[in-house]
Amino acid sequence: MDYKAFLIKYAEIGLKGKNRYLFEDALVRQMQFNLEPVGDFLIRKESGRIFVEAQEEFDFDEALEALKRVFGISSICPIITEEDKDFEHIAAVVNEYMHERYDDYHFTFKVFCRRGDKHYPMESMEVAAAIGERILDEFEDIRVDVHKPDVKLTIEIRNKVYIYSDEIPGPGGMPVGTGGRAMLLLSGGIDSPVAGYMISKRGVSLEATYFHAPPYTSERAKQKVVDLAKLIAKYTGPIRLHVVNFTDIQLAIYEKCPHDELTIIMRRYMMKIAEHFAKESGCLALVTGESIGQVASQTLQSLYCTNEVCEMPVFRPCIGMDKQDIVEISEKINTYETSILPYEDCCTIFVAKHPVTKPRLDKIQKSERNLDDCIDQLMQEAIATEEVIKIHAN
Ligand code: ATP
Ligand code: MG
Repeated sequence: MDYKAFLIKYAEIGLKGKNRYLFEDALVRQMQFNLEPVGDFLIRKESGRIFVEAQEEFDFDEALEALKRVFGISSICPIITEEDKDFEHIAAVVNEYMHERYDDYHFTFKVFCRRGDKHYPMESMEVAAAIGERILDEFEDIRVDVHKPDVKLTIEIRNKVYIYSDEIPGPGGMPVGTGGRAMLLLSGGIDSPVAGYMISKRGVSLEATYFHAPPYTSERAKQKVVDLAKLIAKYTGPIRLHVVNFTDIQLAIYEKCPHDELTIIMRRYMMKIAEHFAKESGCLALVTGESIGQVASQTLQSLYCTNEVCEMPVFRPCIGMDKQDIVEISEKINTYETSILPYEDCCTIFVAKHPVTKPRLDKIQKSERNLDDCIDQLMQEAIATEEVIKIHAN
């Protein structure tokens, strides 16, 4: 088939009443952004539908992949567009479409007609029935089933006629940019890119913070995080990645605090610094890839202690998921292969042999007092090392 256009259906954003146009505009913006590298497309809104029309030759699969990454789309229908609305013409085009689209005709079908143009001389039911007859005349193996058809052929009569029978599922969710902004703590692991993807799916734009500890962590470890950010940016749109040098803080904690509490204390300072950048960039929440019980620093007691330093809400979309569930999403969004590359991140280098699994907040706070003479200075210095990398998927 040689498609030149798509009809885009959206679900939840249709429910937004008076604000609907904001959601539609955000959706169109994200579609434009994702289709830009594929070719020149005209995207226009028309009563609860969005049409994407190619202005030049394009690669169908690439366009489809790009649209499948736009949150807010519930389905993508490749369509045939006809200017001529005459019934005989429509009937001929439909049969031509059926010939080209299907190889054998041992299936059941139903024709569904929607009439946006109320001046059209035939009722929708009449069009559906008459087109159905023409299909039955043309293909002898085909059967009608109005309840559970294998193929539902839709004809929409508006200022033009649109014909389609494929509805390819989109990613669902809400268009990015309609749900505010959040700061993702992005490490090189499997979980945090998935967490970012999931929050963004609800329409939230992302900023990200990555802590590295040169020379203990390598340039390649940082590059891996940049690569992960690029992969999720295919869904989330551009991300500003704040890279922070965390070495001196880690060394101070290592020197002055009990080793079994290292990870928790380190996580508390990470959260504080991420929150600092979050406030600066207008974010309303922090996002992490934590999941209860996955490692010592993610028991409920540990999460309680980590959370205690934050003023903003901290969202943890992976919190109730098993590792395997998280891995499945990371495979689906294509971050898995990058996440499992072996470069060390700073958590793995300064890790205790026997970390506490049930830290007590009062005890952690007491240990942190050992840092009283240096931590404010170290925090300021760490914040000053901030490097902002603008991440674009394309
Ligand atoms: P991930 O796969 O996301 O790295 P993890 O299972 O390795 O998770 P931890 O290392 O305990 O878990 O980290 C928990 C969360 O803390 C991460 O999901 C991430 O949000 C944040 N985090 C950990 N290390 C870093 C880092 N170096 N920079 C930024 N965020 C980090
Ligand atoms: Mg990690």
